[in-house]
Amino acid sequence: MEFRHFIGNTWSAPDNGATLDVIDPSTGEPFAAIGRGNAADIDAAVVAARGAMGEALDGPWATRSPAERADLLFAYAAAVLEHGDELAQLEARDTGKALKTARTDAAVLARYLRYYAGCVDKLHGETLPYTTGFTVLTIREPIGVTGHIIPWNYPMQIYGRSVGASLAAGNACVVKPAEDASLSILRLAEIAAEVGFPAGAINVVTGLGSEAGAALSANPGIGHISFTGSTVTGALVARTAADRHCPTVLELGGKSPQLLFDDADLDEALPVILNAIVQNAGQTCSAGSRLLIQRNIYEQVIERLAERFAALRSGPPAMDLDMGPLVNAKQHARVRGLVQLAESEGIPVAGRGKIVVEASRSGFFQEAVLFRDVPPQSRLAQEEIFGPVLAAIPFDDEADAVKIANGTPYGLVAGVWTRDGSRGLRLARKLQAGQVFINNYGAGGGVELPFGGVKASGHGREKGFEALYGFTALKTIAIKHG
Ligand code: NAP
Ligand code: MG
Repeated sequence: MEFRHFIGNTWSAPDNGATLDVIDPSTGEPFAAIGRGNAADIDAAVVAARGAMGEALDGPWATRSPAERADLLFAYAAAVLEHGDELAQLEARDTGKALKTARTDAAVLARYLRYYAGCVDKLHGETLPYTTGFTVLTIREPIGVTGHIIPWNYPMQIYGRSVGASLAAGNACVVKPAEDASLSILRLAEIAAEVGFPAGAINVVTGLGSEAGAALSANPGIGHISFTGSTVTGALVARTAADRHCPTVLELGGKSPQLLFDDADLDEALPVILNAIVQNAGQTCSAGSRLLIQRNIYEQVIERLAERFAALRSGPPAMDLDMGPLVNAKQHARVRGLVQLAESEGIPVAGRGKIVVEASRSGFFQEAVLFRDVPPQSRLAQEEIFGPVLAAIPFDDEADAVKIANGTPYGLVAGVWTRDGSRGLRLARKLQAGQVFINNYGAGGGVELPFGGVKASGHGREKGFEALYGFTALKTIAIKHG
C-alpha cells in the first residue's frame, strides 16, 4: 500500500517523489508507505484551499450557505459512522491502539462532526450599544485557510475537534498528520470528497514534522494554526507563526492530577482513576498520570489499585486487551527509560501489569506500572511520560494537595474525589487547569466541553462552542445613520 497526499480532492504524488515507511507498532515491521511532503507540497495544498475560499470569498466552499455547510458536515458524520469499522481497523494497525479504543475514536469523531454541523447556523454576531445615531454590529467571518498539525495519539478525535470546528466556521483546511498516524486522516479526507465537500476544502499533506510540519507553520497562506503535541514543538510552531502574526491554538499535554480524599466513594473512583491512565496505553494528553491520595486512606488505596494493575494486560490490538503497544520505537524507549530511571532512584513499584505471550517481541509493548511514594519533585512526578505509568503521592490536607497538584509546569486537567460538595468546588477554583472534574474524570470525550490548558499545557480552547470563536475573525461594523 502506498499512499499519496490528498490535495484538491485528488491523490497527488509527493513533489520530490520521496516516501516514508509506515510501521506496525505490534511488530515493528513496515506495512505501507506515505508521501514525505515538503514545502512545495504544502504550497500546493494551500493553493487548493485558497481556491476553495476564492480571492473574495467567492470560491466553491466559501459560497456555500451556512445551512449547506451544516448539511455537508452531517453527511460527513454519517459517512464516518458507516466506515467506522474500516477506519478503526486502519487506525489500530497504524498506531497500535486497541480496536475498541479505535472504534470509540471513530464514534467520537462522528459526534464532533454532528456537534459542529449543528453549530454552523448559530455562529452569529451581536449588535452593540454605541453613541446616538449609530448602529454597530459584529460579524464572525472565516479566517481563510487554517493549518492543523495532528499528533498520533488520537488522530481521528483531534481531526474532528479541529478540522470539524474550522470547517463549521467556514474555513478551508490544510492538515499535517503525524507520520505515525496518517492513514486514517488520508481516508477521512477521501471520505469528505465522497460526501461532496468541494475540492480544496480539506487537504492532507503527510510527512515529517520537521519538514512538512515546519513548512505548514511557515506558510504565509495559512491564517491560523491548531497544534496538538509536545511543549517543545508547540513553542517552535508558535514562534514560526508569530513572525507573520498568525494566531495559534496550542494543546500541549499535561501531568494531570487526581486528588482522592478520605470521604470519596472509592468503589466509584478507583475504576475511573485506573482507566484515566490505562486508556490508549497512557498516550493521552489529559491522562490522569498523578494520583494524590489522602494519607489516612493511602495504604488501602495503593493495595486495591496494585491488584488492579497486576491484572492489566498489554497485547496486539486485535486481541482487544487493556492496552496495545506504544506508538513507535522512540516512545517505547522513552517510557522504558523513565520507568527504569524511577526504579534506579529507588521509587517503589506497587503494581505491574503483564505483556501477553502472543505479543511479538519486536513490538513496542509496555506493561502498566504503579509507582508509590513518588517524590513530587522527581521526574516521574513532573514530566509527561505518555505511557501507562501512574505516580501515587500521599498528601495530608487540602492545602498540601493543592500545592502538589499545582506544582508542575503543566495545567491541563484535574480531578477531585470527595463527598464534600463545598470542598469539591473550593478546590476546583484553586487548581490550575483548563478543566476540573469533580467525582468523575474525562480523559478525552466530552465534545461539548471547552478544553485546553494553562501554563505549559498551552493556550486557546478546543471543543465546544468556544472553539468556533478561535476559527473566526471578528469584524465590527459601525454605521452612522443620524
Ligand atoms: P511532537 O513532536 O510534538 O509531534 C506532534 C505533531 O507535531 C506531529 O504531527 C509532528 O509530526 C509535528 N511536528 C513535529 N515537529 C514539528 C515541527 N518542527 N514543526 C511543525 N510540526 C512538527 O511530539 P512527538 O515527538 O510525537 O511526541 C513527544 C512527546 O510529546 C510525547 O512523549 C508526549 O509527551 C507529547 N505528546 C503530546 C500529545 C498531546 O496530545 N498533547 C500528543 C503527542 C505527543 P511528526 O510526528 O510527523 O514528526
Ligand atoms: Mg504506524
